[in-house]
Amino acid sequence: MWCGVKNIQTNIPLASYTTFKIGGPAKYFYCAKNIKNLIKVIKIARRKKILFFILGCGSNILVSDEGFNGLVIKNEILETKIVKTLKQNINFQQKLDARYFPAHPDKYLQFSDLDYQTEPFDTEVEVSAGMPLQSFIQWTFKNKLTGLQWFAGIPGSIGGAIICNIHGGAKLFSDYISEIVVLDKNNRIKKIKKKDVKFAYDFSGLKKEELIILKVKIFLSHGDIKRAKSVYQEWFKRKLKIQLQINCPGSIFKNFSLKITRKIGVPTSSAGWFIDQCELKGKKIGGAMVSKNHANFIINTGHGKAKDVIMLISLIKQKVRDKFNIQLQEEIQYIGF
Ligand SMILES: Cc1cc2nc3c(=O)[nH]c(=O)nc-3n(C[C@H](O)[C@H](O)[C@H](O)COP(=O)(O)OP(=O)(O)OC[C@H]3O[C@@H](n4cnc5c(N)ncnc54)[C@H](O)[C@@H]3O)c2cc1C
Repeated sequence: MWCGVKNIQTNIPLASYTTFKIGGPAKYFYCAKNIKNLIKVIKIARRKKILFFILGCGSNILVSDEGFNGLVIKNEILETKIVKTLKQNINFQQKLDARYFPAHPDKYLQFSDLDYQTEPFDTEVEVSAGMPLQSFIQWTFKNKLTGLQWFAGIPGSIGGAIICNIHGGAKLFSDYISEIVVLDKNNRIKKIKKKDVKFAYDFSGLKKEELIILKVKIFLSHGDIKRAKSVYQEWFKRKLKIQLQINCPGSIFKNFSLKITRKIGVPTSSAGWFIDQCELKGKKIGGAMVSKNHANFIINTGHGKAKDVIMLISLIKQKVRDKFNIQLQEEIQYIGF
């Protein structure tokens, strides 16, 4: 059935491959260690009309209790290289809204005192989509490259960072992208310039077009490495204080836009603030609980099921809608529902 591709496993529980530690089994499961095998297995799945899903570090998903009735491809391709020194420096440009607005520093993440004018980009590097973001940031530091310090502590892969267009402090991951190499729906490898992709807060147009990210070129700077490392450490420390790092998929809901925040006249765009105002911290359904530290985090208390999380999400949405007449939107993605 798999035309010579070895090591396709069956009936593999997905819970341990997600940071939520929730989810039933994948019918088929494959760890791709190189691009050739990744493409081969995708081609077979497409030809045989087997539903498939690319798994990065599983840090932004909720997998159903029934699991995934298809092939899960865990991307474990780890490659990095410096491509070139730019002939002309490029100024860092932030065009999109990262939806970061400060609120009470003891309850919500405070960032503005760490932010500074980033140095112009002078280098282009290439990294494969399976690379864990935190290992990649350490690699950039070793090579005296700065820029990604704002994404401290985010436990995803490079592929997940692009698809979700992650936000770190006031920055979005797309701010650093130069070019993306993808496999399209017709199994062709394509290079796409950043300007040809629609990026927004927590959104990239790549997902809709069913593009598989293979690798990406990223702009970085030989900036103030000491400062970059200290921002990284301090930002991570603050995140650890407020956000629990285990048994959760990070924030459940997207923050609101500045426009909506102003319209309602509230002090912050943080989705957590709205949930907090509904006094839902600590609210539990089965084994799922709204974190007592950060209201936008739902924690698996041990034996949480996806169905508990779904009921809690629906309760939170209803309470926030009733109180503020606005609709929360999930940041996490549902798999196998
Ligand atoms: C403690 C904690 C803190 C977090 N903090 C932040 C934060 O500060 N900011 C933020 O934005 N997010 C944050 N997150 C969320 C999460 O880490 C990011 O969204 C992350 O980038 C997801 O990457 P992943 O590899 O885990 O993706 P996964 O969860 O594995 O997958 C997410 C989606 O990406 C797709 N995908 C992954 N790789 C590819 C690929 N190569 N090609 C095509 N599609 C692909 C998957 O199919 C899926 O649809 C946090 C999560 C946790 C647990």
